[in-house]
Amino acid sequence: MIEMNNVYKTYPNGVTALNGVSIKIEQGEFVYIVGPSGAGKSTFIKLIYREEKPTEGSILVQNTDLVTIKEKNIPYFRRNIGVVFQDFKLLPKMTIYENVAFALEVIEESPRNIRKRVMDVLETVGLKNKARFTPNELSGGEQQRVSIARAIVNHPKIVIADEPTGNLDPETSLDILRTFESINAKGTTVLMATHSKALVNEFKKRVIAIESGIIARDEDRGEYGYEI
Ligand code: ADP
Ligand code: ADP
Repeated sequence: MIEMNNVYKTYPNGVTALNGVSIKIEQGEFVYIVGPSGAGKSTFIKLIYREEKPTEGSILVQNTDLVTIKEKNIPYFRRNIGVVFQDFKLLPKMTIYENVAFALEVIEESPRNIRKRVMDVLETVGLKNKARFTPNELSGGEQQRVSIARAIVNHPKIVIADEPTGNLDPETSLDILRTFESINAKGTTVLMATHSKALVNEFKKRVIAIESGIIARDEDRGEYGYEI
């Protein structure tokens, strides 16, 4: 569960990115975060995985208070959350297998179990046969599926994606959305910031629209609501 109460975020340069946000997202929801560029979407997302701290207000994620959390506990907290970026952020010299195995947080597991977990998650995203490839041997959509595999290999409760289809063509974007839908169907909360009008309007979910740092709309099965 994600709960924000009266959250403000002002960056050190004086820019206020969030201007009094209150929201509740239950376990298992699929939510699109939409809004114009510079509206505060990335800031909203960064607050949830504690990449940024709020200037004011309270944030509770999976029963962890993100205002009072100690620095040393942040890595443990982040195990609850998988993050997917627009630019994939894969390690170019490692194979697909290694990129995913690297994210696995288990030290006590046998190499055999680790191998099983990595191959299982690569199967989930349809890339079992590409395990030995390196990222530059894969298409953009395939690289994004590797980054999704990396995000879910630790079985997080929440997957957050910041414009995951921003660099992909429409057909590939659809494929990535379906991957998130199947992750969500297993009970994982999915938050996806997106500028894809086509996806939001075709695959109806809860829509939270952020404009100038406030929540302008919050609708079940909402529309994208902007021209581009
Ligand atoms: P969006 O994701 O909707 O484009 P952002 O959350 O990235 O919006 O940005 C909201 C506002 O905060 C913008 O004016 C942006 O320039 C500013 N901003 C974002 N990150 C920083 C930062 N690290 N330092 C200063 N200003 C920032
Ligand atoms: P797309 O048209 O979707 O961008 P690509 O043309 O980049 O896809 O790649 C098509 C297929 O060929 C993909 O499955 C990719 O993994 C494979 N592939 C692309 N480049 C290489 C390479 N240098 N070595 C091995 N396989 C490759």
